[in-house]
Amino acid sequence: MAVVGFDVGFQNCYIAVVKSGGIETISNEFTDRCTPAVVSFGSKNRAIGNAARNQMITNPGSTVSHFKRLHGRLFHDRVVQAERDSLPYDLVPLSDGKVGVKVMYLNKEHQFTIEQITAMLLTKMKDIAETNLQKNVVECVISIPSFFTDSERRSVLDATKIAGLNCLKLMNDNTAVALNYGIYKQDLPGTDEKPKIVVFVDMGHSALQVSVCAFNKGKLKVLSTAFDPYLGGRDFDKRLVEYFCAEFKSKYKLDVKSKVRALLRLTQECEKLKKLMSSNSTDIPLNIECFMDDKDVSGKMNRAKFEELCADLIERVTAPLVAALEQAQVKLQDISAVEIVGGATRIPAVKAQISKFFKRDVSTTLNADEAVARGCALQCAMLSPAFRVRDFSITDTIPFPISLCWSSEADEGKSCHEIFGRNHPCPSAKMITFYRSKPFVLEASYSDPASLPFTEAKIGEYKLQNIQPQENGDKAKVKVKVQVNASGIVSVTSATMVLRVSSDDSETTEINEDIYYHDGSDEIDIQDKTQETNAHNQLSVDKENLPTAQCPPMEKEQNHKDALSMNGEVTNQPPDAKKAKMKVKHIGLPIEETITQQLPKDCLSTYIEQESKMIQQDCQEKERNNAKNAVEENVYHYRHKLEGPYQSFLSAQDHHSFFELLNGTENWLYDEGADQDKQTYLNKLAEIQKLGLPVQDRYQESIRRPQMFEELSAKIQSYMTVMEEYKNGSDSYCHIDAMDMDKVRVCIEDTQVWMTNMQNSQDKLTPDREPAIHSTQIQEKLQALNNVCEEIVSKPKPRVDSPMDEKNIQPEHPHNMKSPEDVTMEYTNLIQNESKRSHVNIE
Ligand code: ATP
Ligand code: MG
Repeated sequence: MAVVGFDVGFQNCYIAVVKSGGIETISNEFTDRCTPAVVSFGSKNRAIGNAARNQMITNPGSTVSHFKRLHGRLFHDRVVQAERDSLPYDLVPLSDGKVGVKVMYLNKEHQFTIEQITAMLLTKMKDIAETNLQKNVVECVISIPSFFTDSERRSVLDATKIAGLNCLKLMNDNTAVALNYGIYKQDLPGTDEKPKIVVFVDMGHSALQVSVCAFNKGKLKVLSTAFDPYLGGRDFDKRLVEYFCAEFKSKYKLDVKSKVRALLRLTQECEKLKKLMSSNSTDIPLNIECFMDDKDVSGKMNRAKFEELCADLIERVTAPLVAALEQAQVKLQDISAVEIVGGATRIPAVKAQISKFFKRDVSTTLNADEAVARGCALQCAMLSPAFRVRDFSITDTIPFPISLCWSSEADEGKSCHEIFGRNHPCPSAKMITFYRSKPFVLEASYSDPASLPFTEAKIGEYKLQNIQPQENGDKAKVKVKVQVNASGIVSVTSATMVLRVSSDDSETTEINEDIYYHDGSDEIDIQDKTQETNAHNQLSVDKENLPTAQCPPMEKEQNHKDALSMNGEVTNQPPDAKKAKMKVKHIGLPIEETITQQLPKDCLSTYIEQESKMIQQDCQEKERNNAKNAVEENVYHYRHKLEGPYQSFLSAQDHHSFFELLNGTENWLYDEGADQDKQTYLNKLAEIQKLGLPVQDRYQESIRRPQMFEELSAKIQSYMTVMEEYKNGSDSYCHIDAMDMDKVRVCIEDTQVWMTNMQNSQDKLTPDREPAIHSTQIQEKLQALNNVCEEIVSKPKPRVDSPMDEKNIQPEHPHNMKSPEDVTMEYTNLIQNESKRSHVNIE
């Protein structure tokens, strides 16, 4: 099982994989660890990543970039409309009201959902990982900004499904960084000690995220997260673009914003300038040739001026830092380190602003670009059975408070209750008890729409069905479990109706139940099932029996219980609760879930199918291009060789025809052959190779043949030497049978004759003729000679045992061991015997 972490950034993506040697950030086919988040659509295929980035200026209308923030949003969303102004491609409303992307693809207009676009990017990242790991990649962990709401998270998950991935967890960017930081730390305080507080600040291209984390041995707890979702490196680029647009207007009378390509070029140049200013405080020139109306433009910028232009942006860095500390209730002096990551934290003024706020130097111990992907890969390894990772528990936070609303049974209006507060530990689950006699609807939403960087506060509706009153007409007790899972997705995971039943009912289970009698009003009972103790919710610990099938692993942790009445008054027990030993029946209730922002199942399967067709199309186009390139390469290869080394290996007539074919093919490639199908190119290639390969073969043979003859000749010579020594009665060969030696002689003579004949035949031929003998035949002859002779001449001499060998034999078992005296005796005897028999050297 492959273990992979994907950092899907607004501008840049990184992939980390787990190998036996540890975590590795891998490179793509351009040996670049960074894969741009860009998808470009062409008339024949898609380009994704680096190849797509190169299309941004040449094909702006169909090159999709900067799309991450469009996830889960409707077309009329204000964020979508704001983004739309700065995007060179078209955004359109889709039939479900969501935002889509309009591009020209395969010479037709196409509309894609944002999930599809992200899926395309993920398909590319999956492919890079598979090429690197040489195995299928399915399971992965993917990063998202911590401020992503339920809709955005579900939308990213849909994209992973379209790409054929199984996302084990969506991980908040900074939590991934914190994991990558903490898991290797050997000096973390013990579990009972005061935790080490570290602040992580990530400024990428689109957003600034801050997390305050508490570390103990084997444990990471995110205490708070704060953010400015609208402050990133691109805002600094925009300031430079604005500045130069104004300058070029007055200096060159150019309206840069009127031309998409010019604006894109200027944006790219300004980004480069910004990066250069991070390491250089002197004036830096900006020159763009043939910018607009055939005019070259130039300007300059320095760090001081840049900081002046961006003063308010730099100022904005502080607010999320303040918010994060306030929410975590952490003081500056409690902080052990401030770690910064994300490309835009390289801007010196940003770094200085963070440093000034924390009154300390910021640390850059982590790789600013790769830390998120590495954290995701670590998390994937922790979730994968294939790897053993040091125990390390992670508790994240819920960034926005979540409420649950419902209508009273008497239809007296809606009641809302905040189920999870801001920075409540995540994952978390709460069990809520209602008293109802008929189906009702629960609505989950974010409690504070004003603080939400998303237009829609509603999360979803859950209709609890099949509810009926108790046998005696009383309302039934309905237990509902609401959960925010590890990916930050909110859901009502189960609903159970608890009915009192008559004792002869065979399906009943006898349990101790707290029965809360109601007096007509709704009463709810909330039990917190978070992983970590949450002081706000801890009123009393209740040991209520919960059906085990409903309990996720985290429910092994403490259960805490609040009991609240409808008017919000908190009580430890409902007003008229009484303990009773009863027979009750638990009935699981069907829940009809309506999540408006999630893709319907049939849509998802259509997109999966479409993606697989597009992958196939890309593959075919790649093969077609490879075939075309092969024709082109062969034209240049043979023409170059025909003018040089191949010249004498074909007749003047053939030389002329071959040249004609090559020149004709070259012209064809620029004309009618510029856009043909794969088979046409393969046919053209075959035509060239039909003439080229025999020439190439004759040329290569002319080099290889003499080498092979030489090798064969040397071998013959070496066997002849052996024969000679044998004849002279050499000790080394005297043990060889005479008949065998005769076989060697015959074989040598045959081979010698064969070689001379072949060399003579070949010498009579000019290089442009088919050779009389091929090097592979000489190779075979050499092999045949070896087969006959080698075994005979290298036959080992009969072995004469040496007494030293006897001495070296070790006893197998201790009881077989002889005393040193015994050995000396035997050894002496042996020497005497041997010396009688032969002349063995016994030293
Ligand atoms: P996000 O985190 O918002 O989704 P991302 O992950 O794609 O975006 P990063 O790769 O972390 O963003 O950072 C990209 C930003 O960092 C760009 O704006 C880029 O210009 C900026 N950047 C990179 N290197 C430097 C540098 N040396 N100086 C200034 N800015 C830099
Ligand atoms: Mg990022």
